[in-house]
Amino acid sequence: MNDIDVPVLIVGGGGAGLTASMLLSRIGIESLLVTAWPQTSILPKAHVLNQRAMEVMRDAGVADTIYAASTPAEQMSHSAWYVGLAGEGEDYGRRVAKMEAWGAGGDSPEWLAASPERQANLPQIRLEPVLRARAEELAPGRVRFHHELTELAQDDEGVTATITDRDTGETYQVRARYLLGCDGGRTVGPAVGIVQEGVRDLARVVSFHISADLSQVATDPDVLIRWLWLPDLGIPGVLVPMGPDHWGPESEEWVFHLNYGSEDGRALDDESVLSDLRTALGLTEEQQTVHMISRWSLEGVVADRYRAGRVLIAGDAAHRHPPTGGLGLTSAMHDVQNLTWKLAAVVNGHAGDALLDTYEPERRPADATNVQRSLENAMNHIAINALFGGGPQAGEEENWRQARRLWSEDPADTDFRRTFLATVAAQSAEFNELAVEFGYTYDSAAVVPDGTPAPENPDPIRIYKPAARPDTRCPMPGWKTSTATAWPWPAWSAPAASC
Ligand SMILES: Cc1cc2nc3c(=O)[nH]c(=O)nc-3n(C[C@H](O)[C@H](O)[C@H](O)COP(=O)(O)OP(=O)(O)OC[C@H]3O[C@@H](n4cnc5c(N)ncnc54)[C@H](O)[C@@H]3O)c2cc1C
Repeated sequence: MNDIDVPVLIVGGGGAGLTASMLLSRIGIESLLVTAWPQTSILPKAHVLNQRAMEVMRDAGVADTIYAASTPAEQMSHSAWYVGLAGEGEDYGRRVAKMEAWGAGGDSPEWLAASPERQANLPQIRLEPVLRARAEELAPGRVRFHHELTELAQDDEGVTATITDRDTGETYQVRARYLLGCDGGRTVGPAVGIVQEGVRDLARVVSFHISADLSQVATDPDVLIRWLWLPDLGIPGVLVPMGPDHWGPESEEWVFHLNYGSEDGRALDDESVLSDLRTALGLTEEQQTVHMISRWSLEGVVADRYRAGRVLIAGDAAHRHPPTGGLGLTSAMHDVQNLTWKLAAVVNGHAGDALLDTYEPERRPADATNVQRSLENAMNHIAINALFGGGPQAGEEENWRQARRLWSEDPADTDFRRTFLATVAAQSAEFNELAVEFGYTYDSAAVVPDGTPAPENPDPIRIYKPAARPDTRCPMPGWKTSTATAWPWPAWSAPAASC
């Protein structure tokens, strides 16, 4: 294979890299994407795409394809908490709290007003093929799966990367003016001395991707994410429908996460976790097909730098966080939206290289906030689960005794119930986080302040205050008219823009 000279080399073909490829192509910048794995993600992982991310997907030309495959808005309007799910007796699957989420599926006045796009929900294993097809359509022959970066050197003028075609074993070199590391932090960052800092191994999670009929036990049609306390096992679980043809209780596929303590050896043994899966969901081996078991640990880390010479990093390569809040893949999309227009301006000679120095001061603080929010969301779930007490050692009987205090008639349990509901209420910061998704501001040499004071915000998590200041995203009319708001503009879609 011939050596290649290209303005931008993208390393990694996950959500970050594929989005970067599409956006660069859309603004006429040639790139080459190489990615180590032979195919797009085989793990369901990310699924919620916030409104700002969908604005980026609109720019890339894939928003309507994503909406067509996504969970219908009315089936992602709530999140709810349950004790057990399946089992003998009326207490199994009892719902103990329910919360409006994602602006009631996008129908609340604030969410309608925030953006021309509504949020979507599409598991990563279905999203990435959409992104890949579009990236290949925009840059034929320039999206190479099973091509791995093995060496990297840089000088003042550019980067020289050694790539191995894993199908043929052939090696070739790519010379690029800039390299964009979207490799999840595996190779590029360590090769240029970038270090991820933060907390690791907060908990061990085992995730299952299964096909099963759960329509008799997962009954609320408007709930997307089900948070389960499982007294029989003494651990929490999370259940999310994956479609693809039906959503809600009729979903054909599901993701189920079991959260083990970081010291719990059961998490490492396939037989043990499969047994726990069957116990929790009330399924026999014959009633389910397990497509995949994956293991990961909760962490919250941010890279110490986003740029090292001609190398820039984005997505999980720059920050990794708990999935609580859906801020991982979405932040990756926000990162590359910020970076690609700057790369285009520099490559086209419309701006000097210093414009790229504004990427880190703009995105790193926003990403650090997202990491912090994701950690706080995870911690509050841990606080909710801790209220149930018990645990694997306490045994089934004691775990049920404690859980039943939530619906007992005993006045002595009133304070317990109040504490539980107050702790659950705090989780609205995860499911109603408009200010986190839209409200971040940029402070860098590329932003010329207009001298106006930043608007006061009494709730910098939940309340998004649109402003037409140079450091903020441009306010845009909402995605559809609402009887609740009597919004004056008709339904429309516009490309995302920044002030
Ligand atoms: C259970 C779970 C649920 C989640 N839910 C959400 C959610 O609802 N919303 C959300 O926004 N986020 C969510 N996330 C986070 C999200 O999955 C990640 O943030 C996202 O996948 C990061 O994308 P990425 O492209 O940066 O990295 P990755 O998806 O890790 O992609 C990295 C790519 O780099 C390639 N690569 C690695 N090394 C090399 C090399 N040497 N040469 C070439 N290529 C290489 C790999 O082949 C891969 O394609 C969730 C995560 C988990 C675990």
